[in-house]
Amino acid sequence: MKISDRMSRLGTETAFEVLARAEALARAGRDIINLGIGQPDFRTPEHIVEAAVKALRDGHHGYTPAPGILPLREAVAADLERTRGVAVDPDRIVCVPGGKVTMFFAILMFGEPGAEIMYPNPGFPIYESVINYSGATAVPIPLIEEKDFSFDADEVLSLITPNTRLMILNTPTNPTGGAVPRDEIEKLVAGLEKHPHVAILADEIYSQMTYDGHEHVSLLPFESLRDRLILLDGWSKTYAMTGWRLGYGIMPEELVPHVTRLAVNSVSCAASFSQRAAIAALDGPQDDVKAMTTEFAVRRRLIADGLRSIPGINCPEPEGAFYAFPSIKNLGMTSGEFEERALSEAGVALLSGAAFGEYGEGYIRLSYANSQENIKKAIDRLDKFVRSL
Ligand code: PLP
Repeated sequence: MKISDRMSRLGTETAFEVLARAEALARAGRDIINLGIGQPDFRTPEHIVEAAVKALRDGHHGYTPAPGILPLREAVAADLERTRGVAVDPDRIVCVPGGKVTMFFAILMFGEPGAEIMYPNPGFPIYESVINYSGATAVPIPLIEEKDFSFDADEVLSLITPNTRLMILNTPTNPTGGAVPRDEIEKLVAGLEKHPHVAILADEIYSQMTYDGHEHVSLLPFESLRDRLILLDGWSKTYAMTGWRLGYGIMPEELVPHVTRLAVNSVSCAASFSQRAAIAALDGPQDDVKAMTTEFAVRRRLIADGLRSIPGINCPEPEGAFYAFPSIKNLGMTSGEFEERALSEAGVALLSGAAFGEYGEGYIRLSYANSQENIKKAIDRLDKFVRSL
């Protein structure tokens, strides 16, 4: 067999590998606490599950139009009006199986040899992976601790060249838990007016998760970006629906036929009962979402304070999403070694910061989408492990 060269450029998300290793150790009888994977540990709210069951019983189990059923796109439009204060034509909304699919399609639409695509580093590893796969040059936007894991808009703008096709932004941010402040977003948007050839992919999948007065600043309300912004969001994190595989992209009219064609060529459509359930999620009570974020806020305090109490670990304040991204630079080992030893010696699954790009070296990512009890136990174990070094 001769596999295409392109395949050698495709990266991965090591969270899934660490999950497999953690599960193998657990099957072998080890007590493992998993702070590796980034998914809410809550159950999908009951009324959403009921809506899916009803949809299946009512016979909604066939194909749907590739961009999603109209009532779902209308429900998304109404939600955007509530959450972002922006009226969006449902025809500019394409619902696909997961937030990742909008990301994949956006990068494939703009990426080719000779093109440059900017992306946050450390950042969700799929950005860099798919940029490389497309043949485009991946240009990192460094997110550094000294800037609270945000960026300086002028520095970002200085990375733009005539070949820049797409700029990927993500706030609140995976893996750092940072949230880009309003003044920096406004400066960036003002600067982008001088670069009308650059399209923007705003990954706002953690839009509902910010804490302690940190706000989520969406790019959707900025009129000057309207003709070149793709906004990515979905149900996975907000409604604890990672396995339902549903997300959406809001995009300029001009891109809708291209994204629809990519969907027809690959996924056809999102699962029809997931789409019906997703309407119930958006239109129904939001109490469960509030309860989840309130609980995440408590766990965030617990994990940040706990990590800071461990000698040699420095944990910047997480502002959004459900990740802590502490520095282990004082411990004399690489992030990869720490990930390996934390799992095998302390029984705590976490991720190396380097898995999120070169600027993540020296850090580890811990997801606090786990119970308070498990977070406390994990901190105790990591404390013992670090003190034994
Ligand atoms: N974007 C970011 C920043 C993420 O962290 C994730 C998942 O971890 C996704 C997108 C993908 O979300 P989905 O599970 O809906 O594909």
